[in-house]
Amino acid sequence: MKQDIISRQLREILTDDELRFNEPLSRWTTWRVGGPAEYLVFPSTVEKVAWVIKTAKAHNIPIVVLGNGSNVLVKDKGIKGIVINTSKLEKVEVKGTCIFAEAGVTMPYLAKHALQNNLTGLEFSVGIPASLGGAILMNAGAWGKSIGEVIKEVKVVDMEGEVKNLSKGDMVFKYRESSFQRGAQVIVGGSLELAKGDPIKIKNLMNLHQKSRLEKQPLRLPNAGSVFKNPEGYAAGYLIESVGLKGFSIGGAQISDKHANFIVNTGNATAEDILNLMERTIHCVESFYGIHLEPEVSILG
Ligand SMILES: Cc1cc2nc3c(=O)[nH]c(=O)nc-3n(C[C@H](O)[C@H](O)[C@H](O)COP(=O)(O)OP(=O)(O)OC[C@H]3O[C@@H](n4cnc5c(N)ncnc54)[C@H](O)[C@@H]3O)c2cc1C
Repeated sequence: MKQDIISRQLREILTDDELRFNEPLSRWTTWRVGGPAEYLVFPSTVEKVAWVIKTAKAHNIPIVVLGNGSNVLVKDKGIKGIVINTSKLEKVEVKGTCIFAEAGVTMPYLAKHALQNNLTGLEFSVGIPASLGGAILMNAGAWGKSIGEVIKEVKVVDMEGEVKNLSKGDMVFKYRESSFQRGAQVIVGGSLELAKGDPIKIKNLMNLHQKSRLEKQPLRLPNAGSVFKNPEGYAAGYLIESVGLKGFSIGGAQISDKHANFIVNTGNATAEDILNLMERTIHCVESFYGIHLEPEVSILG
């Protein structure tokens, strides 16, 4: 059977720890929803990522990449094909004011690592629960800063399984958008150009950002951060709140009563509940303001 051949080929290079079958993706997303991945792989080296891609290509099966799962809505029926989880790509190296990290390293870890090395430039990211790869793809940002501003180089594996190093001129970053969203590749690492800074000032700024998040965001319940992008000139949260949707729920999905651009899983939400709530929100804001809200979260499956 095709599935047995694919499994055998994946097992040639992946250890037992790096391969799961029919794994519920609700375990790997911060919303805690999502059906199973046919194959969920956790390659621990760039060579293994390339092997997985070549295997998928040889059998003509789709590939989806999952970082820390903090900005995705995986549908209840799950994902057919191979899902590459980058969490085992975790090397970090500091050289002068530059940090190279593999794609699975999380932004809070990188921000703290920068602090330990007296480097400034990543304070904004201390509370963003992203992997570096996901942060690059989404051009994650906060407090007026974003990852695109400090990225110097990005290492990718393309859909032929070839490793490529891209420099600044090869990529474009805009508000929650990057040129990586248009291409098909797995981001496997990146170099960040930071600057020498005063560790006390860096730490104080990080603490300030963290305090503000705790006050404003519903961090006690599973969520995926801001669900919608801010339309030009408006805050999506304000628009949603002003049409009276704060606290409104469908099934186990609720528009947070703390921050209206967050949808929280109150315990037993399905992806369908969240999708229905997103559609209702888009419809209400469009009818009232004539503004179309665009999802920030990626919908997979
Ligand atoms: C509590 C909370 C607070 C948040 N605050 C912020 C914030 O302040 N600012 C902000 O910008 N975002 C915020 N987010 C959203 C989220 O953390 C970011 O969008 C982040 O960049 C997603 O990274 P990830 O690793 O979780 O990616 P995932 O959610 O796993 O994936 C997101 C997208 O990137 C793709 N992808 C992931 N990794 C790779 C890779 N290595 N190669 C190719 N494609 C890849 C996926 O296929 C998917 O399309 C928040 C989320 C939460 C839960």
